[in-house]
Amino acid sequence: MPGTSFSYDFSSKVYTGKTSFKTGVFINNEFRDGSEGTTIDIMNPVTGGVLTQISEGTAQDVDTAVQAAKAALATTWGLKCPGAKRSLLMNKLANLMEEHHDELSALEAVDVGKTFNWAKNADVAAAIATIRYYAGWADKILGQVIETTEAKLAYTRHEPIGVVGQILPWNFPLLIMCWKLGPALATGNTAVIKPAEVAPLSCIRMCELIVEAGFPAGVVNMVTGYGHTVGTAITAHNGIEMVSFTGSTFTGGKVMENAANSNIKDVTLELGGKGPCIVLEDADIDKAANWAAFGVFWSQGQVCCAGSRIFVQESIYEKFIARFTQVVRSIKAGDPFGESIWHGPQASQQHFDRIMGYIQSGKDEGATVAVGGNRIGTEGYFIEPTVFTDVNPNMRVVKEEIFGPVAVVLKFKDQADAIRQGNDTEYGLSAAIFSENITKAIETAHQMQAGMTFINCNVSPECQVPFGGIKKSGIGRELGEYALRSYYTVKAVHVNLGLEMNIG
Ligand code: NAD
Repeated sequence: MPGTSFSYDFSSKVYTGKTSFKTGVFINNEFRDGSEGTTIDIMNPVTGGVLTQISEGTAQDVDTAVQAAKAALATTWGLKCPGAKRSLLMNKLANLMEEHHDELSALEAVDVGKTFNWAKNADVAAAIATIRYYAGWADKILGQVIETTEAKLAYTRHEPIGVVGQILPWNFPLLIMCWKLGPALATGNTAVIKPAEVAPLSCIRMCELIVEAGFPAGVVNMVTGYGHTVGTAITAHNGIEMVSFTGSTFTGGKVMENAANSNIKDVTLELGGKGPCIVLEDADIDKAANWAAFGVFWSQGQVCCAGSRIFVQESIYEKFIARFTQVVRSIKAGDPFGESIWHGPQASQQHFDRIMGYIQSGKDEGATVAVGGNRIGTEGYFIEPTVFTDVNPNMRVVKEEIFGPVAVVLKFKDQADAIRQGNDTEYGLSAAIFSENITKAIETAHQMQAGMTFINCNVSPECQVPFGGIKKSGIGRELGEYALRSYYTVKAVHVNLGLEMNIG
């Protein structure tokens, strides 16, 4: 058993339960210390103090996890386990997550700084729905029978890729773990997962539920640790056939490099974004202002598909800004467990510093702070929801992904101008369009260079609908039927039904 563990009594208004679990490296359904016995401090974003410790995994632990995952594939999982059984286990896991819904939500709140209510109603609810959705797919992974000639039967099998690596970010730890684990398990792969070192607690707790659900040892393994050690070891390991990564564009490049330089493993990358949120003059201003605020400030702005560049048609600019800033000023910040709190702290000191640096750069480059612009209090990582106006496209706050509660608002003349400005970014993850003229909204949506476009809503993915980006926002899709394609390999089988071969 590992030396590290986490016990917490959530004595708060909205959740009063307790939690207690081991925080080691998880291999073969058991927790253990990392091979070097070192630990990583996990910080409390509300106070900036140490919350607990987790085991620090190593490259050696990754190798041990890969061996366990390979053994499971050869004996109890993959082609050895019928899809119907995989489905049953996944549904059991979803049931257990439901039983522990509040506890998992509280873990996201205490570790990431998300408000408990949002963690419960959005993150964890969607994580459970995702596991259930893919449980439904597990016995529907179908190949094709392909017509060639009368003398041949040809068909395909959609076989598991093998051991897959899954590297997670800290902004939606449990949800993104389920986005990756769902399709991987449904298609019969085994996994070596690395949660982010900033916020791994809900993912580690999930490993206990995986054991309780009855998954065979070695099917899911988790090596906690740093990106430059554990992450690199996963991307470079020759026994891992595919890596699914969510994180920054910079790290995504390194993942591709290691994948190419090892065994040419497949990669899917969900990377950064700087989404445009376009408000056309025929939008319902009140609805658009609320959705625009949600799109950029939800989850403290730490959302890859955030609509952080808000473009407003000149004719309604003043009206929109008045309503939008009113909505932003009404956002209540404070302890994530507070009943009416909407806005918690950022996830880490490092990230807090980075965002404050961006806010300073906006001020230095001459943008107007219409709302916010400061830290909140003196303790923890709280930042005011911030709105910049009078910005230009060359400012860092307009060009670069801040990944925090910072919106920039720009004007446009007409639909064509909105599309041009909206697409003027190296990213291509998501876009949002607001208009009561549905034809115009759809026309605009179709011209956005983005993997996803929301019309009259914002940042609301669904587990049935593909999620992912183009340009520097990534490769491949998560969620929906499309995500399954990343997790199976297609084997063609040719059966001779009578063609003679006579040589000599
Ligand atoms: P990050 O790239 O620093 O870290 C992401 C994960 O990669 C962490 O687990 C980290 O430990 C690991 N990692 C770091 N260096 C590594 C390396 N060399 N090799 C392998 N793994 C390594 O990103 P972050 O700061 O944790 O997350 C924020 C970024 O993630 C933002 O840019 C955001 O847009 C992006 N993100 C994208 C999506 C999406 O679906 N598109 C979702 C969430 C976050």
